[in-house]
Amino acid sequence: MKQHETLPLVPIARGNGIWLYDFDGRRYLDAISSWWVNLFGHTNPRINAALVAQLAQLEHVILAGFTHEPVVQLSERLNALTGGRLGHCFYGSDGASATEIALKMSFHFWRNSGRPHKTGFVSLANGYHGETLGALSVTDVALFKDIYAPLLRASAQVPSPDWRLAEQGESPRGYAERCAQALEHHLEQHHADTAAFIVEPLVQGAAGMAMYDAEYLRRARVICDRFEVHLIADEIMTGCGRSGTFFAHEQAGITPDFLCLSKGITGGYLPLSVVLTTDTVYAAFYDDSVTRGFLHSHSYTGNALACRAALATLDIFEQDNVIETNRARAAYLSRAAQPIAQHPRVKHFRNTGMIWAFDVDADDTAFTRRFYQAALERELLLRPIGNTVYFMPPYVITDPEIDFLVAGTCAALDTVVKSSRSPA
Ligand SMILES: *Cc1c(COP(=O)(O)O)cnc(C)c1O
Repeated sequence: MKQHETLPLVPIARGNGIWLYDFDGRRYLDAISSWWVNLFGHTNPRINAALVAQLAQLEHVILAGFTHEPVVQLSERLNALTGGRLGHCFYGSDGASATEIALKMSFHFWRNSGRPHKTGFVSLANGYHGETLGALSVTDVALFKDIYAPLLRASAQVPSPDWRLAEQGESPRGYAERCAQALEHHLEQHHADTAAFIVEPLVQGAAGMAMYDAEYLRRARVICDRFEVHLIADEIMTGCGRSGTFFAHEQAGITPDFLCLSKGITGGYLPLSVVLTTDTVYAAFYDDSVTRGFLHSHSYTGNALACRAALATLDIFEQDNVIETNRARAAYLSRAAQPIAQHPRVKHFRNTGMIWAFDVDADDTAFTRRFYQAALERELLLRPIGNTVYFMPPYVITDPEIDFLVAGTCAALDTVVKSSRSPA
């Protein structure tokens, strides 16, 4: 609140494609997809048209005892995208509620299966899974968690495979293997009271775009199977093509027991989340007794407009062959960003799919704010996490817009680091 006295809010009048416009006619390139949600630009004509049509049909209906066409179609299409392996969908309203649903369902599965002691959860160091109390319990970001610690249930954290933490001379894969061993040791000790391992596949977003080798997930799948612990893939950020494949876990050739989606699922239009799961999990709840069923309700569960926006988003993936065309777009951006990668004050330039990040060597505690401000002055919406600057643009960014983004970032970087000394 106090910072806004010197860093005023930016009131946005309208959006178009990757651009946001304020009331004074200034524009900003939305290089972070409005907190990682937007995929195909603001006021996308195809998503708009689908929503207008849906508005004339049905805006919302109770999803208990009743159902509707968009939610049925969306569930079937998501099932198909998982190769039919995750054929059961449970809907929520946002990412944190998807985490809550997956945690509760995992616990309840074990209880229904005669294993009531499996009540614990394990997650990665620096992981982020949302900020409601259950989700915050498995989140490991001190800034969000520490204050509320007295309200939270204990959970265990195992080392993050983030390759920046590798020893000198150790490869990202070697380090991922070493971290997988740590998970194995943890579960050897604690599997009897552990329900699930929750993980952000390939990229830990809020940790500062920490990226890691897919081998970690392959091994985690084997370890979780061996110890009868669920694997929850939190793809709230990495899903919907962000990692370079439709789902990040595909790159490890694995199937999780639970898959959480939100953020990009509606193209960044409306709040919606979904947890997909297997026939095995479904079967454990199939019973005459209501208390063996999974009870978790949100008023706007499976909202028809949000589901329609999601269907329109999936249509664009198909019609425009997005996963394929993003490859060329990503290659262009990675090439164009070489001046950043080679900047003397930049470390760990990294990329996974449509996510780029780098760490800036600056001892300035106000770096985040100063960089944000310097970027705004160059018509860029960039919001560093600590000293990590990242790009997570909508998938409709063009080559000239990429050049504009890189040039503006270099200029902002030069201004900010010039006035801050390197700690090295
Ligand atoms: C954003 C995010 C969440 C939380 O989603 P909200 O909609 O903000 O509650 C959970 N997990 C991951 C990996 C996220 O990036």
